[in-house]
Amino acid sequence: MIPAPFDYVAADSAEHAIELLAEHGDDAKVLAGGHSLLPMMKLRLAAPAVLIDICRAGGLAGIAIDGDELVIGATTRHADLASSPVVRADAPLLAHAASLVGDPQIRHRGTIGGSLAHADPAADLPMALVALGGSVEVTGPAGARLIAAEDFFAGFFETALDDGELLTAVRVPRAPGVPWGYEKFVRRANDWAIVGVAAIDGRIALANMGPVPLRARAAERALAAGASNADASALAAEGTSPGEDIHADRAFREHLARVLTRRVLERIS
Ligand SMILES: Cc1cc2nc3c(=O)[nH]c(=O)nc-3n(C[C@H](O)[C@H](O)[C@H](O)COP(=O)(O)OP(=O)(O)OC[C@H]3O[C@@H](n4cnc5c(N)ncnc54)[C@H](O)[C@@H]3O)c2cc1C
Repeated sequence: MIPAPFDYVAADSAEHAIELLAEHGDDAKVLAGGHSLLPMMKLRLAAPAVLIDICRAGGLAGIAIDGDELVIGATTRHADLASSPVVRADAPLLAHAASLVGDPQIRHRGTIGGSLAHADPAADLPMALVALGGSVEVTGPAGARLIAAEDFFAGFFETALDDGELLTAVRVPRAPGVPWGYEKFVRRANDWAIVGVAAIDGRIALANMGPVPLRARAAERALAAGASNADASALAAEGTSPGEDIHADRAFREHLARVLTRRVLERIS
């Protein structure tokens, strides 16, 4: 459990990190909270020659209101999201999702940008961002661009980030007072979701029901057409492709998606 040798360099700004990414190319990896990257390096599933630490890079952390959106810096910690009065008021689903990530140590190190860039389909924040209809700001040598959450997750642990691009911020629509629901089925308190469901404003997102966080579109359409919560949630697993592992086979995950969706919808209505 010892990583391959690597060099370490601390970026002092987003611009500096992007310069370092351009300088080191494929040999480099961005280091944020390190709670996904370092375990992968210890298992030798990743062996970057250079780590570019962005944790102390100026201007990348913090939560601000920009019109009808919250703008959350990439290195904002899960614990800060969970405890922020602004996030709890304007995007309580996101604050709740952050409060369920791992344990207190993980929440005090892990960052929203790291969680999204890691793109684990079982993770909490990617599902929450898809449910909220949020987006991510990424910046690279060619400039900045905004990517809708649903387009950002490109495959199993894959994103739409191009080579040399840094995820700099996350944008979340403000939705104070809008009913929401969140269910995460786990075996132990600090685990990733065996299946997760988050819903708000007619959108239903699923975690661990495919290679990326998915929308339960058949259930959404049924709800919009006036179906009952029971009838809509019966469609929650349609169009999904859950994997199988030691925790659950496909049929159990599909069952969980239906049951958790019904619980979420009942909380909302
Ligand atoms: C025991 C344990 C339990 C956990 N439980 C949960 C859980 O219940 N739910 C959950 O959602 N997560 C869980 N996690 C994961 C945790 O949330 C991580 O903090 C998160 O997935 C990664 O964030 P990080 O800041 O640590 O990123 P890092 O580990 O530093 O980086 C992860 C990846 O993202 C890249 N990256 C990081 N930041 C950026 C950026 N700004 N731009 C471009 N690329 C970037 C890195 O190069 C790396 O490839 C758990 C982790 C552990 C160790």
